[in-house]
This record gives sequence, C-alpha cells and structure tokens, in this order.
Amino acid sequence: MGISMRCMTTGRYRWRTWFRGVAPASLSWLAPKGKRDCGAHEWYRESADTWRCYHCEAGVTHENPWTPSETVRHSLAGLMALTEHPGPESAPEIQRLLREASMALEEQVDEAREVFRMVKEKTGVTVESPLISV
Ligand SMILES: [Zn+2]
Repeated sequence: MGISMRCMTTGRYRWRTWFRGVAPASLSWLAPKGKRDCGAHEWYRESADTWRCYHCEAGVTHENPWTPSETVRHSLAGLMALTEHPGPESAPEIQRLLREASMALEEQVDEAREVFRMVKEKTGVTVESPLISV
C-alpha cells in the first residue's frame, strides 16, 4: 500500500513502472512505458553500453548516467549475481564490472579526499584513514 501510493503520486509514469514491477510479464502490454520524457529518469542497465529509464521510452543513454556511488553499488550487485553461476563466457563481463567498480571507487575516494582536506583546512579536524590521507 505504502509503496503503491508513493509510486502513483510521484512523477509521471510512476504508476506504470510500479504496475510493470508487480504484474506478470504477460500483462506488461497493459502499462507500456510512457513515450514522453518522464522528467525524472531512473536508470537500469540494459547492456554494457546502454542505460534505459524505468519509466519512459525517451530515457536512453550510452554514457553511464549513474553517480560513482551508484556505479559501485550496481557493479558490485552485478558481480555478486554473475559469480552465483559463473561460466567461461562471463569472464569478460566480470572483468568489465571489476574495472568499472574500481574506477568509480577511486573517483569516490578522490571526492572524499577533497572534502577531508577542506574540513582539515577549515576546522583542523582530521582522522587516521588507511584509504585517505590529507
Ligand atoms: Zn524517464
């Protein structure tokens, strides 16, 4: 109830997304994605270089739309799923996800280092971190 109300009241197409999420795939034609830009894309990865919006057909990109932290989270989830039943054919995808997670993590550490440095400059407060030294 809470979930359905929230999804039906926030943003164009949200109820369709909700419906497609709870209905069997055979009924998905009842609630196709909206054709117009939903204005608040939420991305899922369709393939190595294509992301699509859950809500609308207009939402499609070939550049990673996720923030570094989203990229880390999704890459790790993908790695867990892929290694559940690993096959020889999954090695290239595992390699790609490892590389992407690693790059996004470095980006996050860089961001954190900048903030830690600013905090140190302005307040003098620091913390010992094996990952980040300022
Ligand atoms: Zn959208």
